[in-house]
Amino acid sequence: MPENISIKVIGRCRPLTGEESSKGVKSVVKVSGDKILLELGGKEQSFGFDGAYSGEVRNEQIFKEKCETMLQRTTEGYNSTIMTFGATGAGKSHLMSGTDDNPGIAPQMIKRLYQHIAEKSNREFFITVSYLQAMDEKMMDLLNPHNNQMTIRHHPHKGIFVDGLSEMVVHSYDEMSEMYEQGRRVHEAGGSDLKGSRARAHSVFSITIEQKERQSSKVGVRSVLTLAEIAGFDHGGSTDPKVVAGVQGMASVLNALGGPKKGGAIPYRDSVITRVLQESLGGNAVTMVLAVVSPVDKSAQETMTTLQYAQYAKNT
Ligand code: ADP
Repeated sequence: MPENISIKVIGRCRPLTGEESSKGVKSVVKVSGDKILLELGGKEQSFGFDGAYSGEVRNEQIFKEKCETMLQRTTEGYNSTIMTFGATGAGKSHLMSGTDDNPGIAPQMIKRLYQHIAEKSNREFFITVSYLQAMDEKMMDLLNPHNNQMTIRHHPHKGIFVDGLSEMVVHSYDEMSEMYEQGRRVHEAGGSDLKGSRARAHSVFSITIEQKERQSSKVGVRSVLTLAEIAGFDHGGSTDPKVVAGVQGMASVLNALGGPKKGGAIPYRDSVITRVLQESLGGNAVTMVLAVVSPVDKSAQETMTTLQYAQYAKNT
């Protein structure tokens, strides 16, 4: 299976926030070409990727340069996955969801998808979405938070799937945007309900697209576009074994994906998040990992960990 996997890794460093700048916080990260340079312990270390972006670059540019082609591939019938990966406070949600004046990858993807649909008037589209949160071994249905009937199962044709997770039929751009926003609010509220929990919560927004020629009686093409935020580790390095296991699980999957020459099985079973993502990462899937880091000197160690994990994933 790994032979067919295409994986690209992009590095992104956020800017210092206004508050950090006014407090005189020191930045230890620079971006140069496709490299991220980190100053740690008096030495500068360099990490090369398939693209690197500093904090001044708008989310829109990253979307245009790196993510728009993923949508193209999905509409051609391939499964595609875009995931942000990084420590708490590194800028994952800013990149994936963004703000009103700097929209993230997800809202731009949704917008572009509906532009594409509008351009293809000879085709019929049937679209559903689901939005899952996985924290430790617990799953939450972000589109129906009271749903507690979910189980990970294996289906002979569909493969691994979350049985019971809501699949909502979507008819328009507005409907999909609203569902994404609604799920996101539930995900974010987790942060205040359970102390610091959002930091450990992964989220997976999946858009399933079925399409066919309007006049045709042939079975259509089905593909899934997955937008995932992979939670990192807490500030100061977590010692919670479950958190460490989750992050290591993801890292070992990235490692295995990036190293098809090494052969061997991909350790999807290590954690809920890796099992849930298994179908979106395997087969003919195209995957983009957006490794997100903070420039803050105090976060240098976790920045290094993120960049190292991200580099495991790179297919060089
Ligand atoms: P995470 O989701 O990884 O925990 P956030 O996305 O919440 O991190 O980002 C942490 C802080 O940095 C937030 O205050 C956010 O607004 C800010 N931030 C992140 N990326 C950018 C960016 N590209 N431009 C401006 N501010 C950013």
